[in-house]
Amino acid sequence: MTFTAPAIPSHGVGGTTACPHCASIQTTPAGQASVLACRNCGAELERRAGRTIDAAFAAASGTFLLLFPANGLVFLQTAIVGTTRHSYLASGAFELWREGWPALAILVLLVLVVLPFVRFGLLSLVLGCLCLDLRPAWLGMAFRVADALQVWAMVDVGLLALWIAFTRLSATVPTTLGPGGLCFVAAAILALLTRATLNKAAVWRAVSSPPPVDLGAPLLACEACRLVAPSSRAAEPCPRCQTTLRPRLSGGVRRAAAFTAAGVILYAPANLFPMATVPIGLEASRYTVLEGVKDLFAARLYGLGLLVFSASFAIPLVKLLGMSWLIGSVAAHSRRWLILKTRLYAVVEEIGRWSMVDPLVIALFVPVIQFNAKLYGRAEPAATAFAGVVVLTMLGTQVFDPRLLWDAAQDRS
Ligand SMILES: [Zn+2]
Ligand SMILES: [Zn+2]
Repeated sequence: MTFTAPAIPSHGVGGTTACPHCASIQTTPAGQASVLACRNCGAELERRAGRTIDAAFAAASGTFLLLFPANGLVFLQTAIVGTTRHSYLASGAFELWREGWPALAILVLLVLVVLPFVRFGLLSLVLGCLCLDLRPAWLGMAFRVADALQVWAMVDVGLLALWIAFTRLSATVPTTLGPGGLCFVAAAILALLTRATLNKAAVWRAVSSPPPVDLGAPLLACEACRLVAPSSRAAEPCPRCQTTLRPRLSGGVRRAAAFTAAGVILYAPANLFPMATVPIGLEASRYTVLEGVKDLFAARLYGLGLLVFSASFAIPLVKLLGMSWLIGSVAAHSRRWLILKTRLYAVVEEIGRWSMVDPLVIALFVPVIQFNAKLYGRAEPAATAFAGVVVLTMLGTQVFDPRLLWDAAQDRS
């Protein structure tokens, strides 16, 4: 297997960057092009238009500050004839724990409460330092951690879950969004805005500009910050973000295959067993993923039904099939459809986290629907299995290095 990345010469003088999708290393033009695309695979390397460090700092710190009232104030409130129930953002996790679903409870607490604080706290700190022109030694490492948490801090997915939970609850009992819920909605919108204004490549350049490299020599790229360094520096820490420099993720295909296979095994129980019990027409009923979609269509909530069908049924299936194809392609040293497969990987990596919406709906729903023997809600076995599929496929995508697709094709030629 060859680890030498092909260098693509260019007339530009902006700097050297590595495409994280294919194996190419290329110089980037210094001009103000709004979008920079890889000249080998066409994937987007950097989007500059409308993105500044100041705007990203404002959005990230706004998100971080709003997370405090979103967690501390009443989130949802329900009422029927003189009885009220109210919840906080973390109530769902505690309720799931109490009902005997500790793994799901911990996962919900992490993605909805703990990791958003860590990601947006670190992001505010890093961007704030850059706005003040401060560059402490830990800056690169802090940004690397904040960036890695992007997929796991699910404030945006939580917003979608809140919309679905609120619509479903309102169909059964009068429901109001508390001040905590309103702050959460605002935090989620600012989180989306953070993503839209954050130019990661520009942040990395602001943290430190890498020294020029000889494009004729064997090179490698840091997997976290894309810093390009001579291959002789493999196994040393990256001077910018402290990740150990290595040509490719070691054992990535084997680990990705293991995570994907485990996801396939859990996919059957996740779809065959009931996800949750919810009151429908003042009667407790258990539903599976597809029955939940059917109920939404029956209630004429077509948009919502389509959304839940995509997030809970289609996306996990596309992910499992897509990852199996990519892993098989590397193993078979396939040279076909490299660009299509590179795009597929980017799509699978991007959409996978949205499947967490169904378990999050259950977590938001359950604490405020505990009224009597008929009017109650609780998680059922498939909720844990389903969340397991989502986490395993996300891990499978993260440990898979798409550059191996291009290496494998090169090996054969
Ligand atoms: Zn590329
Ligand atoms: Zn690095």
